[in-house]
Amino acid sequence: MSTESKISWTDATWSPVTGCTAESPGCKNCYAKREVQQRWSKNPRSIFYGRSFGDVRCHPEKLDQIIRWKKRRRIFVCPRADLFHPEVPFEFIAAVFGAMAVSDHDLQVLTKRADRMLEFFSWVERRAEEEKESVTAFCISRLDNELSEILPEDSHYSEVFCPRPWPLPNVRLGVSVENQEAADLRIPMLLRAPAAFRWISAEPLLGPVDLTKINLSGGQFDALRGGEVGRGSKVEIWPGLDGVVAGGESGKKSRPTHPLWFRMLRDQCGAAGKPFNLKQAGEWTWEPNDARQQVWVAADGRGTRNDLLSDMVLGRSGTKWLLMGRVGIRASGRLLDGVLHDERAN
Ligand code: SF4
Repeated sequence: MSTESKISWTDATWSPVTGCTAESPGCKNCYAKREVQQRWSKNPRSIFYGRSFGDVRCHPEKLDQIIRWKKRRRIFVCPRADLFHPEVPFEFIAAVFGAMAVSDHDLQVLTKRADRMLEFFSWVERRAEEEKESVTAFCISRLDNELSEILPEDSHYSEVFCPRPWPLPNVRLGVSVENQEAADLRIPMLLRAPAAFRWISAEPLLGPVDLTKINLSGGQFDALRGGEVGRGSKVEIWPGLDGVVAGGESGKKSRPTHPLWFRMLRDQCGAAGKPFNLKQAGEWTWEPNDARQQVWVAADGRGTRNDLLSDMVLGRSGTKWLLMGRVGIRASGRLLDGVLHDERAN
């Protein structure tokens, strides 16, 4: 697997864990699963050779790869896995954070398992306290532990590197958000997690998302600006998100993204002064002339139809529909209303 990346919001990838299983509707046409099934499981040079995508594996031998990469880069962690998958032991996740602690890169972590991510942070903070170490030092000791059979006996990162503060300033923690339901579920957990930088990846975007109205049991919360949550003595201050990446789906079975959903996120980020990056429109375009396949897409995210009754075309049914066409990911491009949104948060 290549370490250089063509993804607009990163420079390279690092895979200490490979393999995954579906978690939510956004996983339905997982690009990594598709590539493993079609190519890598048959390629003797691939780490996936002879494996199914659902075979989740940890790779201790890859842990210190990012420490050896000298040129400082922005690196996407586990592009073909979910670091917080239930089959990845907490000890190994701690070692991954240990490697990130001693590397000079900016590391981008993205998960759909925000609940297990929070469980991990509780576990690692408790274990560090039991060992009377800082959380960072504890994670680096787990790194040494995982590398003990790979590196020479006297090579210990714990003794060489001065640990960074916790949460690690070079780790960008993110959750995937494909629709409002996923936003309501995962973003509050992200905002409660110890992180120096928090972001979301709205890809594949499958419905409208209002980040300024995240549903909490006690009301709604503006996840872009942050603020107070709770009442009385239980008031907490949650930070706002630091950046948003959005994208449409790729692949033969891809689902269309209505342009309104991209515009909503673009405008919400613009109003809040937060970076917005449109990675790709997806296989489908909202300029469907000459498209090989066309479909009507409901603006409220309730689904697609091949044809509409005349009342629906006129919007009398209460739902607005837009005709979209499949033109391929290259032809649909990255522009939204003629503008390239390529912002990267610092
Ligand atoms: S969580 Fe990500 S890697 Fe795992 S199945 Fe879903 S889309 Fe694929």
